[in-house]
Amino acid sequence: MVTLLVVLFGFCLGSFINVVIHRMPKEQSLWHPGSRCPKCRRPIAFYDNVPVVSWLVLRGRCRGCGTRISARYPLVESLVAVLTWLLWERGGGGSWSILTILASAALVAVAFIDWDTFLIPDELSLGLLAVGLLSAPINPFFASALGHGAWYGRMLFSLLGAGTGFAICWATAEFGERLFKREALGGGDVKLLAAVGAWTGALGAFDCMMIGALAGSVYGVARMARGTLKRYEPMPFGPFLSAAAVFNFFKLLPFGFPFGPI
Ligand SMILES: [Zn+2]
Repeated sequence: MVTLLVVLFGFCLGSFINVVIHRMPKEQSLWHPGSRCPKCRRPIAFYDNVPVVSWLVLRGRCRGCGTRISARYPLVESLVAVLTWLLWERGGGGSWSILTILASAALVAVAFIDWDTFLIPDELSLGLLAVGLLSAPINPFFASALGHGAWYGRMLFSLLGAGTGFAICWATAEFGERLFKREALGGGDVKLLAAVGAWTGALGAFDCMMIGALAGSVYGVARMARGTLKRYEPMPFGPFLSAAAVFNFFKLLPFGFPFGPI
């Protein structure tokens, strides 16, 4: 029963993330007005706004004008719902689970916004950084930190993680720019990796950078091989960093891989 409610909450959270993805880059309010059809501006009634279900019932079209509604909406809702369910189970259903669920939803928004616009809104990256630092006292990633995981030890490790994330990404950006004579990583990526460090520590930030770079390279090379990406065409890195950060929340790799735990 609790699990069912958690998954339903996940779908609603995903629905809100859709709003964030579409409105935040345009600096529009997330709360007003309610959802409208992008074509005919007809307000979407609550019964046509049920996550996934409404899209299926209306077969991906607006009830008013019949314009196609992107399949991305139900996909984002499903993705956030699945992550919500998995993180709830993984984290034991406590306050830490709830925090990682909200952080992952924000990271899904980061991934899609960066994909669309090549920008990562500060509201999301710096917001994640702030919440990561403030929630450090209950962060299990820092359980073995200074003072046997006392709150000040955890906060120090979180701060250290943020600094390391910032430094790794900033150094890579500088190095990449000198090597390739073009911007490979932006300031948004640097702030995002600082936030990841605040949540998962210095080694977590390192892992995230490695996994993100690997995934990004595989994707880039695959697209170049198919001829759909030119050699120096820009590619957003935020989606890969975000995916790696969410992956890290599950602690599937030995933490601090490949160097082992702190
Ligand atoms: Zn319409």
